[in-house]
Amino acid sequence: MKKLGFGLMRLPLLDKNNKSSINQEQFNKMVDYFMENGFNYFDTAYTYFDGNSEIAFKKAVVERYPRESFLIADKLPIFDLKSTQHMYEIFDKQLERCGVDYFDYYMLHNISTKHEEKYTKIDSFKFIKDKKKEGKIKHIGISCHDSPEFLENILKNHPEIEFVQLQINYIDWTNNTIQSMKCYEVACKYKKSIIVMEPLKGGALVDIPNKSRKLFQGMSPVEGAFRFILSLDNIMIILSGMNKFEQIKENTKIIDNFKPLTKMEYEILNNVRNRIVCDKTIDCTYCNYCIDACSININIPKFFELYNTQKLLKQKHSIGMYYRNYISKNISPSECVKCNNCIDYCPQHINIPRNLEKVLNEFE
Ligand code: SF4
Ligand code: SF4
Repeated sequence: MKKLGFGLMRLPLLDKNNKSSINQEQFNKMVDYFMENGFNYFDTAYTYFDGNSEIAFKKAVVERYPRESFLIADKLPIFDLKSTQHMYEIFDKQLERCGVDYFDYYMLHNISTKHEEKYTKIDSFKFIKDKKKEGKIKHIGISCHDSPEFLENILKNHPEIEFVQLQINYIDWTNNTIQSMKCYEVACKYKKSIIVMEPLKGGALVDIPNKSRKLFQGMSPVEGAFRFILSLDNIMIILSGMNKFEQIKENTKIIDNFKPLTKMEYEILNNVRNRIVCDKTIDCTYCNYCIDACSININIPKFFELYNTQKLLKQKHSIGMYYRNYISKNISPSECVKCNNCIDYCPQHINIPRNLEKVLNEFE
């Protein structure tokens, strides 16, 4: 299997503010390029685009390619489950939306301490094991944004888990909150295949500031980020959420021409990391998990993205204008009531209300 997976969390949209307006024509073309170049792994989830990601996948892939020519990974939304019965209903709905009768890879989505009581009570691990026995799933796993200790505990107690999906990139590798390196080491200790998510940190490692970009000495930032991950052992696949044709071309080319990083190139990435970490940014990956949790519907990732762009790209004037335009029609961070409802939903453990204050201080 080629080591690039098409992440279906950031699909091209016809209208940026409408999650159901997936640009199917553009997506189909991207799928064709991906498949023609020998790539065939797709990663979706029940919650992506409110279910429209699964449907777009069906239209672009299932209805246009033979079942044996592609691999599909889907996820059980642990955080949304209400009962044992609900798991069955969701799973059946996923098969129907995707138009398949089995999943190649299926995982418990964002398994975490917060939901431990719930998934233990309704026995989600048994559920995926049973589905595997029935032939509805080929390989079972978990995606996890929690601590290495939590991950170790899961892998110790559930030897049936075959793979782990982790957030790994050269910035989070040594980050004290994300702890990519330690989570990676735990997965290796238990001999699990690793699927990598957020290799470009939600795009932050693509559009990096000029002063850091200069450090790359000929490598593109995406190449540096991908080669860092592919130089590690046990990596099964890297997921990339691609919504532009150029991205798919660049990413597939990097994978096809992969060479492990040299000592000097590791040094380059260390320098870039140090430089970027020095620029104070909010660690948001724009996953959108917090949006529905906000009691007054603040578009939290939108504001964090504006803040990070401002900090990283230093385009103070133009980004300030975007901010003002945006709050003229949407709820402003100044309306945050500090109820803290959102905090538990953030896989990056960001203190959202405190960081919204940073946004306000920056722009107002
Ligand atoms: S703390 Fe602020 S951002 Fe978070 S849920 Fe409450 S109002 Fe929304
Ligand atoms: S604040 Fe957290 S939950 Fe919200 S989009 Fe950013 S990373 Fe995701």
